[in-house]
Amino acid sequence: MRTPFIAGNWKMNLSVKEAVDFLHQLSGKLPDPSETETAIAASPLFLESMVENSGDMPLIVAAENCFYEDSGAYTGETSPLALAKMGVTHVIIGHSERRKYFKETDDIINKKVHAAFRNGLIPIVCCDETMSRRESPDRISWVVSQVTNALKGVTEDQARSIIVAYEPSWAIGSGNIASASEAEEGCYLIRQTIADLYSDDLANDVRVLYGGSVNDENAADILEQNDIDGVLAGGASLKPESFLNLANFLK
Ligand code: 13P
Repeated sequence: MRTPFIAGNWKMNLSVKEAVDFLHQLSGKLPDPSETETAIAASPLFLESMVENSGDMPLIVAAENCFYEDSGAYTGETSPLALAKMGVTHVIIGHSERRKYFKETDDIINKKVHAAFRNGLIPIVCCDETMSRRESPDRISWVVSQVTNALKGVTEDQARSIIVAYEPSWAIGSGNIASASEAEEGCYLIRQTIADLYSDDLANDVRVLYGGSVNDENAADILEQNDIDGVLAGGASLKPESFLNLANFLK
């Protein structure tokens, strides 16, 4: 049985004070992590305060990105080692906005996945699908290759702990959520790719999330799908009430 995973990705929003105020509003209202795991990914500027202020809350504090080296002369980058030392446990890798605006390639994403594991961080790997890819004949192979390349050299034990998010950029921030069957199709494809790379047994343990214009009012059909174990919400995670509604959806 896979434990559902509900995550927010704040992207480049809020301030340290707003982040801490937000966490205070979650206090005592998050689900038991044995029923649903809950995470918020935020800017590295906030993470230390978030780790401190989440205290005993069942909340996973995640980074939105990290670099593939642990330390050195890499001006402006975020060290996965420093994240781990801070108490951060998860990191989003390969978000479509990183692929698009920062030109992250599958090779860079694979190096970041290894950097995360090297430092004991669990990667939440995002798999994109643009509208032009969606309409092209190589759509399936593009999703498959993103997953395959991200997992190159990843051991079975590591792969079992990974979280993968199907986040079609045609749905992100558009207000147009994928239909439940479209989302299921993408998540199923990701799971099948993992099964082909490792085994059915391992793929059955991996959590696969859907992301793209999902909120507490439209998540119901998505969360019912066989291969969808939770969501990665952007805009909807910026309001404590809608984030809490999502987090408690499956209770
Ligand atoms: P939206 O929920 O704002 O569409 O963003 C989704 C996303 O990119 C989460 O990582």
